[in-house]
Amino acid sequence: MAFFRAKDTIEEGDLVVVCLSRDNMVPITVNASVVYNNKFGNFAHANMIGMQYGSKMYSHNGRGYVHLLFPTPELWTLIVPHRTQILYLPDISFISAYLDLVPGRRVLECGTGSGSFSHSIARSIAPNGHLYSFEYHEKRYEIAKAEFEQHGIADLITLQHRDVLKDGFALSNAVQAVFLDLPAPWDAIASAKEAFDRLEVGRLCSFSPCIEQVQRTCQALADHGFTDIRMFEVLIRDHDLRSMPHPTIQSAIARHRSQIEAKALAQQQRAASAPQANGHTEPTTNTGEETKKRKATDALAETTTPDGHDLSLRPLTDAELHYTLMTKTEEECRGHTSYLTFATLIPAADTSPSMMAV
Ligand code: SAM
Repeated sequence: MAFFRAKDTIEEGDLVVVCLSRDNMVPITVNASVVYNNKFGNFAHANMIGMQYGSKMYSHNGRGYVHLLFPTPELWTLIVPHRTQILYLPDISFISAYLDLVPGRRVLECGTGSGSFSHSIARSIAPNGHLYSFEYHEKRYEIAKAEFEQHGIADLITLQHRDVLKDGFALSNAVQAVFLDLPAPWDAIASAKEAFDRLEVGRLCSFSPCIEQVQRTCQALADHGFTDIRMFEVLIRDHDLRSMPHPTIQSAIARHRSQIEAKALAQQQRAASAPQANGHTEPTTNTGEETKKRKATDALAETTTPDGHDLSLRPLTDAELHYTLMTKTEEECRGHTSYLTFATLIPAADTSPSMMAV
């Protein structure tokens, strides 16, 4: 199986993401002689074989259920055993878009770390792209290598065990995109530049947790002839999705019109029932109390008919309402994930395709 070649039916040896809830998922490799156990009870792997991915499976005692999901890079990022800090989906999606990671792209990534981003890159560039990934920590390198093989993405990735700051990438004229997630990315810029394909516009991204690293990286990028250098701070903001009711224009107009008409009618009725003026005005000796009373009576007259019917806008009926999906964002962004510095490498004039053709 491969992460990016979805299939319908679960087979022996498959990696299955057992989902108890959005925050509780476990990867298992299906082995007919094993029984997976959780707080709901037992789930025999043998019974999973032949089930459809996405199915609901009940425990042996029917006390609870899990969903059996096909592993995707997105799910893997949520469940990967952490050997290092990893890249999460907000950064992964942003970087993938800005580096233009599409099928066929040749990409360099350093360091591999826990391989969270490597899985997404592999899926984006499949089937004919290639990822060169570098990791100097031997154990991490070995685990990542084994995982790439188990997950069917090893043919897309050349993983090297190498200290790139000491020995460079040893790649020349090979890639169109570079991603650096290193403690001292500025020291890898010269070697990364060498790795870029000389006939194409190259895109580089460096992930840094702090602004001092960004400053040094920007300086190194400028010194090595990169252009369009810009940094983005990635902030997480939740969008609360709601279905908001609002009246249609026709129903809003009709409702206001009927209210105006009802008020006009009430005024006519009040005028008709008021005692006729005889030209004689009573001397005005209004106390504050009387003025207050009169104001209250006038206000009541505005909102009720003389016989006491309510004249305020009637509530809308369901038939008069439309529902629109809207998002409400929080005022504050809770913490940031990273600073992402992007830069472009334009092919040198003497090696650009048009010059080569001359
Ligand atoms: N992006 C990865 C992910 O999504 O899982 C996480 C990368 S992790 C933060 C950084 C990795 O770079 C570590 O595993 C570290 O061992 C590796 N590294 C640091 N310096 C290195 C160097 N000079 N050469 C190669 N790898 C290096």
